[in-house]
Amino acid sequence: MNQHVPVLIVGAGPVGLALAGDLGWRGVPCMVIEQTDGRIEQPKMDLVGVRTMEFCRRWGIADWVRDAPYPGDYPQDCVFLTSLNGFELGRERFPGRAFEPCPPQSPQKRERVPQDMLDPILRRFATGFDCVSLQYQTALVSFLDGPDRVQATLRDMRTGATRTLTADYLIGTDGGASTVREGAGIAMSGTPALTYTTNVLFRCADFPSLHRMGKAYRFIFIGPEGTWLTIVAVNGGDRFRMSIVGTPDKVDHGEADIRAALRRAMGRDFDYEILSVMRWVRRELVADRYGVGRVFIAGDSAHLMSPTGALGMNTGIQDAVDLSWKLDAVLRGWGGADLLRSYESERRPVALRNVAASTENLERMLSTRDRKPPPQVFAAGAEADAIRTEYGAWFTETMRHEWFMNGFHLGYRYDDSPIVWRDGTPAPPLERSTYTQTARPGARAPHVVLPDGSSTLDLFGRGFTLLRLGPDVPGGEGLMEAAAAAGVPMRVVALDMPEVFAAYQRALVLVRPDGHVAWRGDASPRQPGAVIDAVRGAKSIAREARSQLEAAS
Ligand SMILES: Cc1cc2nc3c(=O)[nH]c(=O)nc-3n(C[C@H](O)[C@H](O)[C@H](O)COP(=O)(O)OP(=O)(O)OC[C@H]3O[C@@H](n4cnc5c(N)ncnc54)[C@H](O)[C@@H]3O)c2cc1C
Repeated sequence: MNQHVPVLIVGAGPVGLALAGDLGWRGVPCMVIEQTDGRIEQPKMDLVGVRTMEFCRRWGIADWVRDAPYPGDYPQDCVFLTSLNGFELGRERFPGRAFEPCPPQSPQKRERVPQDMLDPILRRFATGFDCVSLQYQTALVSFLDGPDRVQATLRDMRTGATRTLTADYLIGTDGGASTVREGAGIAMSGTPALTYTTNVLFRCADFPSLHRMGKAYRFIFIGPEGTWLTIVAVNGGDRFRMSIVGTPDKVDHGEADIRAALRRAMGRDFDYEILSVMRWVRRELVADRYGVGRVFIAGDSAHLMSPTGALGMNTGIQDAVDLSWKLDAVLRGWGGADLLRSYESERRPVALRNVAASTENLERMLSTRDRKPPPQVFAAGAEADAIRTEYGAWFTETMRHEWFMNGFHLGYRYDDSPIVWRDGTPAPPLERSTYTQTARPGARAPHVVLPDGSSTLDLFGRGFTLLRLGPDVPGGEGLMEAAAAAGVPMRVVALDMPEVFAAYQRALVLVRPDGHVAWRGDASPRQPGAVIDAVRGAKSIAREARSQLEAAS
């Protein structure tokens, strides 16, 4: 018998698992298939960004991430050095994750939790919902996108047997070599190769005691040729990842190169065990489309960026959250015909911005290849010390961007979204290392601490939330009636707190299920039905008509 699922998700990496979890949290039945058995040979991501942590908070799993076994007191310093037993050129100091405070704009902070700790957390979250099923060793082979359903052919990787399954929607979270993206005929644009890198996961229990640099999250090694290697503390214990960053004349590194690199990094021989080697190409690519018909892509299948800045998975999880409530709305019947199309309008510009910023961070890291260190940087003596200090200070300053990116992690906005009701205010500049909260439609709704210690963010979730802010504000009945008539889930929350009004700036603010502002005003809109139709992506509102209404409201 042919099996049917509302949503079929291909790929159980962090983005597929987050999408399944968010759909499950909304009560939307879905199936995730994953071609592997779920084991992670080499964890890639390890920085869970602050916005991702806000999603985890909404899902009720922020504590699970916080309590993951990456030690809270492991210093997160970034050290720039000639070798572990050589010279330190500079250092950015960061406390262990347990001691890093939340930024003032969020009730959460970023967390250092590598993929082999995070994926099991997301899996536990997603599969905790009866409506979510997860099948490992099951690959998508091909699919046919029809007018009212998608037919997918799946292969059991253990037996080789194939079967078909139909779905209302097929979502490719199947990574950079996405079968779904290719099957949908979606191309990617950008720079296909920035560097050729060899990642080596190795075990060395006494690593910190073998050198004088102390415990740190990341070491960036600079030789006479410039930056040539990084080593990061993967689990804050015995496992480390060395990345040999290739040069134009040497892109491939074999075992002899790997062992020579480890010896050069330490400054002498030492005992270690190589656990895995992964050769990968750093790219700056964004898919030209985020969906075709009933097929959508998210995460690395939609954008590939340098890990410098930790935006890859975090951007993908934002995709998942944006897509999830729209799928929910459409499957429940209140989402309009344009709602799913807005996924691309909202998320693709964010990816374009993030891939470019990630490349800029990479260029900073490799800037020593253009401005090579003078020979004294590697020599002893007072004169060499002075030159080393100057060079190190320059590089440390150059690198002071990558871990200060809340303008990206929190400050992404959907200013030009077709389902956001513009309020006529000018768009504030997009920030980079800083982030100023705004409740301008399209922005993430601001965080303000409430009297019980919770956050305004805790008010948002499965449906729309209409905030009534102030002592004597309009009731918002028109919006509520229009929402009820269209079947849009909406609740009203009244708050009389000057701090909240200061952050939101209007008496009435309509917040979407993903925590972004959809509409705001000091009075009820004259045509509440038009606002509700716009924010639920109903086709009935033509773009020009809406612009006129926006101007009039
Ligand atoms: C060294 C490194 C460090 C990084 N650090 C960070 C970081 O700190 N923070 C951050 O946000 N990002 C980081 N990234 C990027 C991050 O790892 C990726 O963006 C993230 O893994 C993407 O998740 P995904 O679920 O979209 O894709 P993937 O993790 O690639 O998962 C895709 C899954 O789909 C499966 N699949 C593929 N094809 C099929 C098929 N046909 N059928 C079934 N299953 C299929 C694959 O087996 C895989 O499990 C880093 C990347 C690297 C390389």
